[in-house]
Amino acid sequence: MRHDESRALYDRALSVIPGGVNSSVRATRPYPFFIERGDGAHVVDADGNRYIDYVMGYGPLLYGHDLPEPVSAAVQSHASAGPMYGAPTEIEVELAEFVARHVPSVEMTRFVNSGTEATVSAVRLARGYTGRDKIVVMQGGYHGAQESTLVEGGPESATPSSPGIPSSFAEHTIPVPFNDADAVERVFEEHGAEIAAVLTEPILANTGIVLPVDGYLDHLRDLTDDHGALLIFDEVITGFRVGGLQCAQGKFGVTPDVTTFGKIVGGGFPVGAIGGRAEILEEFTPAGDVFQSGTFSGHPVTMAAGYEYLTYAAENDVYEHVDRLGRRLREGITDIVEDQAPSYTVVGTDSMFKTIFTRGSTPAGDGDDDRTVCGGGCRQRESCARYDRCPKTGADVADAETERWERIFWQEMKDRGIFLTANQFESQFVSYAHTDEDIEETLEAYKEAL
Ligand SMILES: *Cc1c(COP(=O)(O)O)cnc(C)c1O
Repeated sequence: MRHDESRALYDRALSVIPGGVNSSVRATRPYPFFIERGDGAHVVDADGNRYIDYVMGYGPLLYGHDLPEPVSAAVQSHASAGPMYGAPTEIEVELAEFVARHVPSVEMTRFVNSGTEATVSAVRLARGYTGRDKIVVMQGGYHGAQESTLVEGGPESATPSSPGIPSSFAEHTIPVPFNDADAVERVFEEHGAEIAAVLTEPILANTGIVLPVDGYLDHLRDLTDDHGALLIFDEVITGFRVGGLQCAQGKFGVTPDVTTFGKIVGGGFPVGAIGGRAEILEEFTPAGDVFQSGTFSGHPVTMAAGYEYLTYAAENDVYEHVDRLGRRLREGITDIVEDQAPSYTVVGTDSMFKTIFTRGSTPAGDGDDDRTVCGGGCRQRESCARYDRCPKTGADVADAETERWERIFWQEMKDRGIFLTANQFESQFVSYAHTDEDIEETLEAYKEAL
């Protein structure tokens, strides 16, 4: 496989773009391949190499790279009508109505331009609504490039995880281990009256895919209710991916006060959204006093793409297809690693999947049962033979062989024409454009690379 063009482009990029990329995860080793175009479930790079793509834009591309006809028609018509105005349009209302119809927690939605902007605004909203400053987040959780959540350490020792963030931001953020009911309970015992919100992904989806153990999300719901704090689900990645149109909150049966969205809800265009009960959302200006605004917010092209994207999913067997192929992949990989690489865990649910190179794990006992459990999506059931080895926290994933993934496994898969997310932490996705043949080809590659 030749990469001369990509190498030359990267060389140029390094002179004018920091690190040669506009989002840090794209900087694969030794250099990224530059993509020329997408084609269904495939991407073609600048040297003409073709890959089956499971990165899918890091989440937004539910249909792969070909937009369903109604989506591309709506995008073109809104772009040619003049892309944006600085005045409201009908399509914003239609998308907000759609989200309210399908997502349990949502009565109202404010649209913004990225997942980061959504979580920033949601935190401000929670603080404004409750009159409190502290937020509880999960270690290993990800809420975009925002000052309040880029923290590391434990409940008593949070510090910013990036230079450039004053430590006073971290003073208001309390990181706890995901799936640890006692830890978050202790935090509420101590700081209950100061906590504005618990902000969590319902599934840790940017750190290897960690599913909630039974009852954990319910526990967060009860705790926040008892202490007058808000529960915010960051569904930027799980929204309209896990649990279909009802999102992960519908799948797990836990309704948060506020939900953040991004990725799929923009149909492949830049987007974010904050949804929730009217009484809370109306704290946003101009209905209320919590400042929120944006030149491009509710951009008509994005709104049209998002609306048609989700409408198409409502009217076709989209989730059935992607979830079935997701299960086939997880089951197939589970079979392969069972024999060849017992130091692994296959994780994921619905159309998300990942293989975690767990350190020091032992081969599974009862193969059949495990295979079914991993294939259907990890349920973190105590009765499962794998239960102890399924990651429960962000730290469990960080403890895996992350170097092995980046330096060897990812490269081996790329050389076999399979484009996976470039590190141990980011999820991978099946799209509506993937076929059974793609899955078979992918499993062959896993067989050789593992
Ligand atoms: C991707 C993501 C974000 C950030 O969204 P951007 O659009 O990249 O700013 C926030 N939260 C979660 C859970 C995400 O997956």
